Amino acid sequence: MPTLALDIHAAAATNGLTILIIAGAVLVLGYLLSLVLHPYARCSTCKGSPRHYGSIFSRAFRLCSACGGSGRERRLGARILGIGPN
Ligand SMILES: [Zn+2]
Repeated sequence: MPTLALDIHAAAATNGLTILIIAGAVLVLGYLLSLVLHPYARCSTCKGSPRHYGSIFSRAFRLCSACGGSGRERRLGARILGIGPN
């Protein structure tokens, strides 16, 4: 009798762990797919607007030094996995 109860508990724990592992794998795969489809994010320094205009010579501008004027940066996961060109 106690053996059966133990088995049921073990089975329940195994099922819970399996569900957790599957859910984790789905999340990881979803994140990897997201990195492949969208490896870039807005530049955190200039928020995607890389031109800094002067206040006196208002036509003059310089480019964001963090992103070099692209207005984008590679996401952390894409940088780690080397997805997408810089
Ligand atoms: Zn920038």
